[in-house]
Amino acid sequence: MEKKIAVIGGTGIEIEGEALFIDTPYGSVMSRLTKLGDEEVLFIPRHGEGHIPPHRVNYRALLWAAKAWGALRVISTNTVGTMSWHQVGSFVVPADFVEFTKSRPSTFFEEEAVHVDLTNPYCPEVRRSLIEGANDAGALVATGIYVCTEGPHLESPATIGMLRSFGDVVGMTGYPEVVLARELELCYASICIVTNPAAGMRRDAMSAAEITGEMAKSARLLRDIVGAAISMMPEERRCQCDRALTEARL
Ligand SMILES: [Zn+2]
Repeated sequence: MEKKIAVIGGTGIEIEGEALFIDTPYGSVMSRLTKLGDEEVLFIPRHGEGHIPPHRVNYRALLWAAKAWGALRVISTNTVGTMSWHQVGSFVVPADFVEFTKSRPSTFFEEEAVHVDLTNPYCPEVRRSLIEGANDAGALVATGIYVCTEGPHLESPATIGMLRSFGDVVGMTGYPEVVLARELELCYASICIVTNPAAGMRRDAMSAAEITGEMAKSARLLRDIVGAAISMMPEERRCQCDRALTEARL
């Protein structure tokens, strides 16, 4: 039995493999077929081959492509700023999210009233595998609430002052993926690299070289974490994610 895992990779993670273009109703998606451990994995670079900015990413196409390939589970990697004094270079596996985006299509059901339940917005099984994978890889990992902003600009100190009362880390790419995955009954969880303190929260200024060095170190660790998480993932799904639409329609 295959685990059927897709990885949507954010900034800082690149995985080589055979290029595969997947057609979706939302456009074509470039992906790479690769092997991590014993598992065949579909790697989808979120920002394409160039660098599509966060507010222009075709999130629906990415999730649809994962589903069309046959994925049952999606691991997402995201970079975040910390609003809770996490160590730069450490990792956060979100348990919940709050979003302040403005212009992103956030549903596959434009013409139909479908209300998926988000009591547990991230798949508990994929989350557990990511936390165990991070521990296995020797990484520092925490859980917390992910706040998604529209970007592409970074936040002002006053905005961070407000957002700190909503969550622990802030990024631009975690939403609407988490919701779109639920609408497709895919298991989905995210592992976030903490790359910097959020605006106005810097105790000591970090040089660009230090940030680049941290990113490189974290990128290697991130690959190890994703690999370990995939090998630790149980083959059979025992979560509720595959029944998300059962009671979602009015
Ligand atoms: Zn699940």
